[in-house]
Parts: sequence; C-alpha cells; structure tokens
Amino acid sequence: MNGLHIKALAGLLLLLCSPLAGCLGDAVDDLLPERKGIPGSLALACLQSDRFTSMVVEIDYEPGYKPMTSSTDMLLERLEEVCDKPNGISVEFSEVNYEFEGAWTADAVREQAWIHKSGDVMDAGELRWQLLFPEGEYSENGVLGVAVDGSSIALFGDTIQESDGPFGRPSVENVENSVIVHEIGHLLGLVNLVYTSPADHEDSEHPGHSNNEDSVMYWAVNSADLANIFFGSIPNEFDQDDLADLAGMADGSIPADDQLWS
Ligand SMILES: [Zn+2]
Repeated sequence: MNGLHIKALAGLLLLLCSPLAGCLGDAVDDLLPERKGIPGSLALACLQSDRFTSMVVEIDYEPGYKPMTSSTDMLLERLEEVCDKPNGISVEFSEVNYEFEGAWTADAVREQAWIHKSGDVMDAGELRWQLLFPEGEYSENGVLGVAVDGSSIALFGDTIQESDGPFGRPSVENVENSVIVHEIGHLLGLVNLVYTSPADHEDSEHPGHSNNEDSVMYWAVNSADLANIFFGSIPNEFDQDDLADLAGMADGSIPADDQLWS
C-alpha cells in the first residue's frame, strides 16, 4: 500500500466506527441500575409524538471539541425529516470538562454522559438526546463514534481529525457530518437494532449496519469498496430502506421492541 491508499483507508475507517461492538458500545441494559436502554430504545420516542412533542439535542463538548455548525445543522435537518416533534427540536450547547484520563470505553462514555446530562431524558413531553464530544480516543482503534445507550452517543474529535482523505477529500468536516448522522441513526434504531426490516439491507458481516454504500448507515472496510469512496464523498443521508424502516416504526407497521416507554 502506498501512502495515498493508507490515507484513504484511514478515511474509510471513519466510515464509520468499527465493528458493532465498538460502534454500539456494548450496551447492556439489564446490568444498569437506571433504565438507560440500548441504542434504539428511544426510537419511537423520537419518531412519534404520542408522548414527546418536543426534543432537545444536548451537545456536551470539552474545550476545543465543539462540533462544526454544519454537523449540528445537518443533525437537526435529519432528525426533523423523520421525527414527529410538533413543538420543535432544539440544540443546547454545554462546555464540560470530563477530567477523564486514558482511552474511552462504552462504560466510561455512559458514566460521563449521565453525570453531565443537563436534564431528564424523558421529561414530561420533552425528549432529550445527548452527544458527547470529549478529548481523547476510544479504546478500540479507529472508532470515530459510539452509541452507548438509548440517549447517549460520543464522537471522538481527535480521531476524526486524523481521518480525512487524500488532499482533504473527504474533509474532516465531511467526516464529522457523516459520523454525527450515523450515530444518531443508531439511536433511531438503524439498522435492525430494535425491529426487523422487511427489506434485506442489513450487512450480514456488520450487524446493525446497512449493506448500501450510499447510506450513512453503511459500514465499509474492504479493499473492493475503497475505490468507490477514494475520491468520492461520504454518505451523510439515510437511504430509502433506512427511511422506510423509520416510517414503518413510526406508523406501527414495523413493530419496535425494547422501547423504554410505550
Ligand atoms: Zn455504526
């Protein structure tokens, strides 16, 4: 491999997180004292408005790790496309200091998330999801983001900074945009985390991810796919199957399991 390919591979690894264990953070609900849920366990809370008519996306960042405006704008746009929140979705920014040393683990992310949540996840009619942007890297190499429970995800800016492609294509900004949407997709239950899709679009090699390289939920790392993304852009949108799954959960035609409320 020459330098370019290695750089491109690094760019691809962004794409996104890593094996399911890394990306989904080994969430084990029944070992937890609080009902934190698994990624996807608050999908209906977002997709429907029966109980939650508004939503807050809390962005907790360490100094120097605030996400780019294009990332949070895109996040809002994607959520508004699929979630039913007649009273709106807002973003709250909060600078924090985790004072955390060493490599992040799913447990550490979960612990810090719940220490720093600025409000209840399920507060009357308002749903709160939380994104952590900590300093430092994940314990598993190349992981850019993790979804660790029903309401919490983390993006690792230090790793994202290193994951741009050759000549800055894709750029760090493109990478961050895609990862933020990808991880939110897991909170929405994609792919097959809390339901079974009528469409065959889950990658059998990478459970919880799409087999469509044009979906933001794609998980691709193999040389055959490299050329497809080498100078191309990274997907940052849900594809038709993803959207159909979300619509099906929303209208009840696809049953959703493991929901924290119903
Ligand atoms: Zn993932």
